[in-house]
Amino acid sequence: MTVRRVMGIETELGFTSDQVDAQGRPLTPMLLSGQVVQAYAAGAHAGAALPTGSGWDYADETPLRDARGYEMARALADRSQLTDVEDPTIANTVLANGARFYVDHAHPEYSSPEVTSPTEAVRYDRAGEQVALAAARTLAGRGQQVRLYKNNVDGKGASYGTHENYLVPRTVPFERIARDLIPFLVARPVIAGAGRVGLGQTSERPGFQLSQRADYLEAEVGLETTLRRPIINTRDEPHATPHLWRRLHVIVGDATMADVTTLLAVGSLSAVLRLLETDPGAVPDITLRAPVAAAQVISHDPTLRATVETLDGRHLTGLDLLEAYLEAVEEAAVGGHEGWVRDEETRLVLGRWRTVLDALRVDPASCAAQVEWVAKFSLLERFRDRAGAAWDDPRVQAMDIQWHDLDPARGLAVRLRAAGQLERLVDDAAIAAAVAEPPADTRAWFRGEVVRRFGTDVRAASWDSVVLLDERGRVRRVQLPEPTSATREQTAALLDRHTRTASLLTELVSEDV
Ligand code: ATP
Ligand code: MG
Ligand code: MG
Repeated sequence: MTVRRVMGIETELGFTSDQVDAQGRPLTPMLLSGQVVQAYAAGAHAGAALPTGSGWDYADETPLRDARGYEMARALADRSQLTDVEDPTIANTVLANGARFYVDHAHPEYSSPEVTSPTEAVRYDRAGEQVALAAARTLAGRGQQVRLYKNNVDGKGASYGTHENYLVPRTVPFERIARDLIPFLVARPVIAGAGRVGLGQTSERPGFQLSQRADYLEAEVGLETTLRRPIINTRDEPHATPHLWRRLHVIVGDATMADVTTLLAVGSLSAVLRLLETDPGAVPDITLRAPVAAAQVISHDPTLRATVETLDGRHLTGLDLLEAYLEAVEEAAVGGHEGWVRDEETRLVLGRWRTVLDALRVDPASCAAQVEWVAKFSLLERFRDRAGAAWDDPRVQAMDIQWHDLDPARGLAVRLRAAGQLERLVDDAAIAAAVAEPPADTRAWFRGEVVRRFGTDVRAASWDSVVLLDERGRVRRVQLPEPTSATREQTAALLDRHTRTASLLTELVSEDV
């Protein structure tokens, strides 16, 4: 029993640019995003990514079960609606750290490699910020200005996603996951929200709320990720042996820049999942009367006093809900389940969750170095006091967006981080290492290392395969169905024995593509 598990975070980035084409028209979002992705692969980081155009192996993205209809529809729509220059395969690449950097829904997106702990999830998520920043700098060096924002709302009504992915044994019934996680996810922004200025999808009412995404939720359970967004997403593409694993795809979370907030987001969810996997009877039995509305009630109240109603008539705050889950997890941790107490990572996550929850109950402002919405709220309140500005003052709205700017000279969160006012869990050296090197303990290691070592001999990759050139120039696929196989320990010696994929393939099982 532990909070450790295979996980990964995908982040779509917001952007602005004043670039125009030869006719003086603004570039399309698709083209701009493509430029960002290509800039990384082509810039000073050449060799740190597969050349674009050959990056991602779409054929191997296996749509499964309930996802099938949707995925096929999407693939067809994507291909037929795009002009050649906007073909998504042109800007879809794989990095030497095992991540995917590509264009999704006309946004640049960094999908972290698979990692095995919340702290590593934080480190590889921060590495994604550096990748995006390097891309923007490469473009700036060519006189092309693009600003990148790690947020989920553009302030004009659009929302784009941050997806968390958790490896869960297939034996855990999905109905149970949905039922048990809905109240938890409704309350989680209390410890994991990034904060947002404005209430309603188009910020039609002035105010501040905890979550970027709450106002964009419209359903409890569903397959969609961009329309009628559900709290629980049923997409079932495990990118792993399907009868053994499910990849739980959580689409309601915020992009976060405060390390402790990111840690708490994925750490607390992973802990609740573990409880559900190992001792389902111990998960708090809570059903909310109206979960979608409850998500908004909790998000809209920075005093943390608003209550939501359960089916059995209890009125609970977001803090009460999280307390119930934390107590259940703590009990399991001290209750003798092998491993919990000896595992440093679990101790870190549960300890932080406890400290933050207790402090929020007494005085939310005391968590300004740990909880991102509190940090943003405190900063904006100080400004509003000084300037006499209302929540719908354009300067306050602009600061909300500027909070998420990745540029260290402009971004408010990045600057607070540098000034030591947002607590850090991973330092610059550790982040730089995560840009250059894949995680050692998942298949991301093999994926990233073949990209780094063999360059264009790697024709494509997906989460569960890499496609390599053999000695006759044929393309061969090597399957990687197990997320914790093909690690450094298992494959470093093998890779060291070869300087070409052709000879490497002689030692691997592969198939024709
Ligand atoms: P979309 O971008 O349309 O949401 P997707 O959810 O398949 O598609 P990707 O952008 O390809 O998303 O990213 C997948 C994420 O899931 C990555 O961060 C990756 O590290 C992680 N991941 C891959 N396989 C697994 C797995 N079996 N279990 C948990 N996480 C996984
Ligand atoms: Mg994605
Ligand atoms: Mg996703």
